[in-house]
Amino acid sequence: MSVVATETAGGAGTGTGAPEAGKIRCDACPVMCIIKDGMTGACDRYANAAGELIRVDPHVLIDRTLSTGGEVVPFLEREADWDGRILGEATTFVTAIGAGTTYPDYKPAPFIVASEIDGVDMVTVVTEGIFSYCGVKVKIDTDRWLGPEQAVVRADGEAIGHVTTGEYGSQMLSLGGVHHLTGGSKREGKVTCDALLALSNGFAVELAIDGGSTVIVEAGKAPIVNGVPETRMRVGCGSATIGMFAKQWLGLADEVVVVDDHITGVLSEHQAGKLLGIPDTGIRMKGRRSTPGRYFQVAEPGTGWGGTNLADPLAILGAFDPKKGARPGLTLFMVSTTGEHAAYFVLDEALRPVEQAIPAPLAAVAERIAENCEPALSTVLFMGGAGGSLRSGVTENPVRLTHSVKQALTRVTCGGAPAYVWPGGGITFMVDVTRMPSNAFGYVPTPALVAPIEFTMTLADYEALGGHMDHVRRLSQAGTPQGRRLVAPIADNPWPFGQPGSGGTP
Ligand code: SF4
Repeated sequence: MSVVATETAGGAGTGTGAPEAGKIRCDACPVMCIIKDGMTGACDRYANAAGELIRVDPHVLIDRTLSTGGEVVPFLEREADWDGRILGEATTFVTAIGAGTTYPDYKPAPFIVASEIDGVDMVTVVTEGIFSYCGVKVKIDTDRWLGPEQAVVRADGEAIGHVTTGEYGSQMLSLGGVHHLTGGSKREGKVTCDALLALSNGFAVELAIDGGSTVIVEAGKAPIVNGVPETRMRVGCGSATIGMFAKQWLGLADEVVVVDDHITGVLSEHQAGKLLGIPDTGIRMKGRRSTPGRYFQVAEPGTGWGGTNLADPLAILGAFDPKKGARPGLTLFMVSTTGEHAAYFVLDEALRPVEQAIPAPLAAVAERIAENCEPALSTVLFMGGAGGSLRSGVTENPVRLTHSVKQALTRVTCGGAPAYVWPGGGITFMVDVTRMPSNAFGYVPTPALVAPIEFTMTLADYEALGGHMDHVRRLSQAGTPQGRRLVAPIADNPWPFGQPGSGGTP
């Protein structure tokens, strides 16, 4: 992870007094760095270039022609090099990445760009928002136990979040948020900011969970739990696995147990087994019986069979009951929800299960379970609140932007990627960071994350919500002090210029 700094090596200080000769003040965030010539500010996003405050990174524009065989212009060094003939309004989307921030927010956003799309005048308002209220939600496709719900998640020894409710085949972490950014020690805030920045920009971060595992998370990549890369997401819970594969086991084993940390399935008792006419086997399960053939809490959670702590699956069985169908020679197949673990047993004369080689037809069904597992991935969703002062950069009447978003008149994107806006008050959004151009996020040492956000609507709607109409510029007039970088749209992202509700196609 990169290190969050409050000032660069000799390059920046902070303060509100008049800067000395040769230094300038950056007013793009509350830190108010005073920056020497040739140096960058504390966030490395702004620099003093011969007395001019410049945004260091190129401003990113998405160009559809790059994905449709058009002329490729990967990088334009300076605005002056661009004659405006290459970028069509219908094929270019101005993102907020590298666009800059206007602090305090009563100033209009850095770019308010008009475009004509299919005869409709559209406008996109872009800004790099400073988010003190932000975090990431992490979905980790694994059954392996990461830690108890509510357990503290740490990076570099600092608490940066917690384990939250598990989902179907995945475990969830909630990281960041204003409490860790601002409510703890200075180091906790910095480490939290650092981890959020790295995760949002697609870098791997090692996390340690109190009372649980370590996990390396990288958006779009397999999680690594306690040093072992996860490969498969479970096919379903134990009961669902019984439902999916019951017919394929018919005639191959007298009994099947699908071991799962949450719901372990038993074929002969399960409704699927009943409908297939599978007789009782006298099996006795440990754990709490929920409904027929479905058992909770058969073992402790762990990194063994089906997300339990089991190395020996027989540990969840009691003695077989001869009065309820158990007999010598009865066959038992036990398998995990990923097909990763499987074993075959035959009851001896004392009705004890004795392990034998798995018959090929049963092994084939275990492989079928594995085949039906999806690759295990880590998913990182950035979540931020844009319902505050950021809105003043869009309109003099901020609540109208909120209303416009809620009425689906205004589309919210982050670096051109579609954002999900939560119902209810404010503009609280989530975005999949893998759908955004690389390195779209920055930080300021307040600490807070800097994330691109764009609001796109018709020009008429923009005017109606009290937009800064005197700052609307055509794309060809939208100059930047720094270079521009053209990137191809990310596959599957709807084109941001579509009319809201149209699915994104112009
Ligand atoms: S931290 Fe960055 S944005 Fe904030 S004042 Fe310093 S250089 Fe400007």
